[in-house]
Amino acid sequence: NGSSGLKIMPQIKFTKLFINGLFHDALSGKTFETIDPRTGDVITRVAEGDKPDIDLAVKAAREAFNHGTWPRMSGYQRGRIMMKFADLIEEHIEEIATLDSLDGGKLFSHGKALDIPGCAALLRYYAGAADKIHGETLKMSGEFQAYTLREPIGVVGHIIPWNYPSTMFFTKVSPALAVGCTMVVKPAEQTPLSALYYCHLAKQAGIPDGVINVVTGFGPTAGAALASHMDVDAVSFTGSTQVGRLIMEAAAKSNLKSVSLELGGKSPVLIFNDADVDMAVALAHRAIFTNKGEICVAGSRVYVQEGIYDEFVKKAAQTCKNWVVGDPFNPQVHQGPQVDKQQFEKVLRYIDIGQREGATLLTGGKPCGEKGYYIEPTIFTDVKEDMKIAQEEIFGPVMSLIKFKTIEEAIEKANSTKYGLAAGIVTKDINTANRVSRSIRSGIVWINCYFAFDRDCPFGGYKMSGFGRDMGLHALDKYLQVKAVVTPISGSPW
Ligand code: NAD
Repeated sequence: NGSSGLKIMPQIKFTKLFINGLFHDALSGKTFETIDPRTGDVITRVAEGDKPDIDLAVKAAREAFNHGTWPRMSGYQRGRIMMKFADLIEEHIEEIATLDSLDGGKLFSHGKALDIPGCAALLRYYAGAADKIHGETLKMSGEFQAYTLREPIGVVGHIIPWNYPSTMFFTKVSPALAVGCTMVVKPAEQTPLSALYYCHLAKQAGIPDGVINVVTGFGPTAGAALASHMDVDAVSFTGSTQVGRLIMEAAAKSNLKSVSLELGGKSPVLIFNDADVDMAVALAHRAIFTNKGEICVAGSRVYVQEGIYDEFVKKAAQTCKNWVVGDPFNPQVHQGPQVDKQQFEKVLRYIDIGQREGATLLTGGKPCGEKGYYIEPTIFTDVKEDMKIAQEEIFGPVMSLIKFKTIEEAIEKANSTKYGLAAGIVTKDINTANRVSRSIRSGIVWINCYFAFDRDCPFGGYKMSGFGRDMGLHALDKYLQVKAVVTPISGSPW
């Protein structure tokens, strides 16, 4: 473990629910601990919202939607306020990146250079879209013509996970803001701090009260209340497939609110004989070990063609030896701790299952450090398709290595889980790349790269990885309704 690069513990300024433009205690007065995964120590206590708080937040969002200025102002005006919000984020990058690293064990250097500036960029991207949302004109078949209006869907509930607290917040909030929706966000209980900080900046930027409300708390209480609320028009969820199913059920059993789900993955990386082995090893390594494997699109199944398999295995193990696990504030460190004790234990359980299923532990497999939730980068070889470690999402630094012979076999294996979020292909042959990318059932395919994300590139799942798209102009559709307005062309036919 590297020594800490964090000299002074920051003061945590915002720990209460944000409803109708003000910070409040939970109605119950309850709070919960948020934990520093580097040590297991408590960072601070945060208001624990539940159904009555969600009711208040939805009421505020409804009032802001039905009678407030936000949905009624021009897209240009909304865009300007969002730009201001983005500027304020940029003025506080270090403070916010510190919160996400403390709360989630994420590398501070990544937060500072990538995640938090990326949030400002997301806001600006959608700010630019806010005045470019328009419908169509239609020449109908009879004596009628029509135009369509694309209207905000109304009050949106966003339920988000802990692995990218800031990116997730703005992936959901920015397009919903751009189209004129109002919203209630339920951040993950592991990482509530940055979301509350953003509320303070939103207010400063001039986002009217009630437009963004944040209720911190737990999934089965606050989250479930939002998903089953009768006055929420849409819920946008990112998290596990298991909870995604509950969200859909809650929507079906309440008011049939529109649902979009970004769920889990078990993404394959396919490496062909013609690949540059060093490059392929580096790509596959980053694809699983970045953010300690806590990435929905992590390349957790690595398929290597038989001609280069042995060389690949040797080099992959070596690469792990140079990968530094330790304090995420230390700039020399590559991998911080898992987000909490529960995830830490879950990953270790899977490592144990892998060994008992008969896979070979090539490297890693153990916790490291005296305290906190650190796990060594771990590689299994001799993994078979039907093993749990090849089928289930571990959400940690565990790679399964599998050998294949032909392209057909690689495609079949790649498609052999219930998930379909992402895939990687490493080859110099354009025909292989084309053929494989069309045959893989996933929302994104990276050829000779991985994690190449951008705000204009749509992102979402096939199969049980969910439906609906975040990012890009596609994301606007989740928060819009289409209304057709029809008129006769020359006077009333009646
Ligand atoms: P999770 O599903 O347990 O929690 C996600 C969110 O849902 C949290 O805010 C949680 O409080 C809430 N929640 C939990 N139970 C709920 C309920 N009954 N009703 C309403 N809300 C509830 O997921 P997690 O373990 O926090 O996050 C990891 C999962 O998220 C992984 O499966 C990962 O693949 C997935 N993920 C997917 C994407 C994507 O874009 N597809 C991105 C990041 C993470």
